[in-house]
Amino acid sequence: MEGCIFCKITSGQIHARKVFEDDSLIAFHDISPKAPVHVLIIPKLHIASANKLHNIDDSLAGKILKLIPKLAEMLEVNDSGYRVIINCGENGGQSVDHLHFHLLGGRALTWPPG
Ligand code: AMP
Repeated sequence: MEGCIFCKITSGQIHARKVFEDDSLIAFHDISPKAPVHVLIIPKLHIASANKLHNIDDSLAGKILKLIPKLAEMLEVNDSGYRVIINCGENGGQSVDHLHFHLLGGRALTWPPG
């Protein structure tokens, strides 16, 4: 989608430090990490937010979920633990309107979030 920063990462117009890519997903390091490990998992398809998750194929949803433990292992936070977050909308703190899952780890994360 024109003007979407994550679509520009998908198309290669903007560089990202990728840790994973296949035909439908990319995972890359967050540019402003909030933990020692902070990667974002995005579908290549432009989906505005979690509010649109019901529109995606079950296979894509499954691929995202199955990628999480693989990345956690690759980034060596599977044993110590990690958190996966989707911020949705204004109150959820979403700043990029392209669906993304934050995977955070490498330190003890507080709860509840602010
Ligand atoms: P959210 O606030 O949940 O929408 O998360 C958006 C995330 O995207 C933030 O953590 C940003 O630091 C991150 N971000 C924005 N632009 C880039 C970029 N060009 N490369 C990597 N991460 C980015």
